[in-house]
Amino acid sequence: AGLIIGRLEQSVSFANRLSVEAPKLREFFDVLQTAPQVTEAHDAIDPGKVQGAIEFRHVRYAYPQADACAVSDFNLSVKAGQTVALVGPSGAGKSTALALLCRLFDPQAGEILIDGHEIRQWRLEALRRNIGVVFQENLLFNRSVADNLRIGNPEATVDELRRAAADACALEFIEALPQQFATPVGERGRFLSGGQRQRLAIAQVLLKDPAIVVFDEATSALDAQTERLVQQAMQRVREGRTTLIIAHRLSTIRHADQIVYMADGRICEIGTFEELVARQGHFADMVRTQFSEKERQLG
Ligand code: ADP
Ligand code: MG
Repeated sequence: AGLIIGRLEQSVSFANRLSVEAPKLREFFDVLQTAPQVTEAHDAIDPGKVQGAIEFRHVRYAYPQADACAVSDFNLSVKAGQTVALVGPSGAGKSTALALLCRLFDPQAGEILIDGHEIRQWRLEALRRNIGVVFQENLLFNRSVADNLRIGNPEATVDELRRAAADACALEFIEALPQQFATPVGERGRFLSGGQRQRLAIAQVLLKDPAIVVFDEATSALDAQTERLVQQAMQRVREGRTTLIIAHRLSTIRHADQIVYMADGRICEIGTFEELVARQGHFADMVRTQFSEKERQLG
């Protein structure tokens, strides 16, 4: 997710230079909706609120100046509401695949469709509206908890903020903060723990209510209690949405409708947990070597 955040940061530092105040929050967040690398077609469409079916067709992407493709001949068909877990070694192309779906840059070959509409034809604002993102390190602004939640929906009422926070298992810690929802989160949310930032990001997505969620699951270990809360929040945000997760937790992988094992920018194996384990290939090896006997039994 590093590269995705890098792009967002460019936009954010631009927004910071505007030094906006609370009433201007809306314009402030609009700045974020413009990715610097891509252009909008003059006759771009707004498909409205989509179902969330996703199709990657022969997608290839190489970073500028890179020798090898980060993603090549990537084909994936996801039905609306399905959960897909992307797994594989570091550098396999998982983050790049998600960045392409968010259209942070365009593929050099192939196409990506949502509900049958190629995303290059979309108005950028429409695309950003339909996709919610939860990263490992979520971008929070040095403003209050409430302001950060309203990134999801600038018009959200206090009741809506509370409901989203509760669904994201964040209400309890927010209410324990010195000024509750009015508490500043600090530069990049440094007054909060990683697990708290992730749950705020999930609450943001719940308020935005997109059809699609992309999720880069934390690699670092969270304490058992926090882990349980994040998993529960993730479960809620997945409900009724198409979800693409870069998955590191066995329980997340188990729950996926499709598992995509990537290496060197390509899909090596694709299928359900049972199918891939039975295949005794890369995925089965990964499960055997990365997860303990106990984890494998509990799932
Ligand atoms: P993963 O998320 O599976 O770890 P990435 O999508 O981040 O993989 O990376 C895929 C490949 O693209 C890697 O070889 C990585 O080094 C390269 N890469 C990632 N980001 C950049 C970038 N901003 N510029 C150049 N190469 C990059
Ligand atoms: Mg990555």
